[in-house]
Amino acid sequence: MTLAPFVYSRLENLPPGGEKRVLLHSCCAPCSGEVIEAMVASGLNIEIFFYNPNIHPRKEYDLRKEENIRFAQKLGIPFIDADYDTASWFHRIKGMENEPERGRRCSACFDMRFERTALHAHEFGFPVMTSCLGISRWKNMEQINQSGIRAAARYEGLTYWTFNWRQGGGANRMIEISKREGFYQQEYCGCIYSLRDTNAWRKSRGRAKICLGEKYYTTMTPCEDTTS
Ligand code: SF4
Repeated sequence: MTLAPFVYSRLENLPPGGEKRVLLHSCCAPCSGEVIEAMVASGLNIEIFFYNPNIHPRKEYDLRKEENIRFAQKLGIPFIDADYDTASWFHRIKGMENEPERGRRCSACFDMRFERTALHAHEFGFPVMTSCLGISRWKNMEQINQSGIRAAARYEGLTYWTFNWRQGGGANRMIEISKREGFYQQEYCGCIYSLRDTNAWRKSRGRAKICLGEKYYTTMTPCEDTTS
């Protein structure tokens, strides 16, 4: 695989303390593709940690995970498949079901995923952890960073790397890589509430509701389901 030179220069020596070993929390293949390629091109020793019990339903969870595994295997990067403990996620989110995206529910969701990531980093001696969640323009970067910092602070010697993955062409590269690899293109953040709210938004604009598992970056399969 050929890697663009600018990818190497924009990440060189950037992890805190000049560390080379990084645990990357990943939510899906599209968001992690550019981050993974940039890290590999920068000579970092990374492992992918997939812990996303927020993703609903199971079919969507499996699809996002399998796409991520496919890309990790292609690059020969270790992939840690953590639990799908949805009961714990729903328990943590209880009372925040109607919060808007980027609100309190999302902070709790990030906290839960990053706390588990931090525990793994601690147990396996990673000095640095980070996440690709912030590369999406739909997310609040500061909200994600604060959650990551909180989680890493639980363990001495562990740092959350607050890198802005959108900068230096990262956001565009994310789309380019997704098209090149033909990744599955999810159309909502992940939880049952984001699916509910995205469908309500689409309905208010006369658009068809989301068809799970049908849209890919290369094929762009049109959604035919217009039922509400
Ligand atoms: S909208 Fe996304 S970040 Fe917020 S709670 Fe749902 S899955 Fe988590």
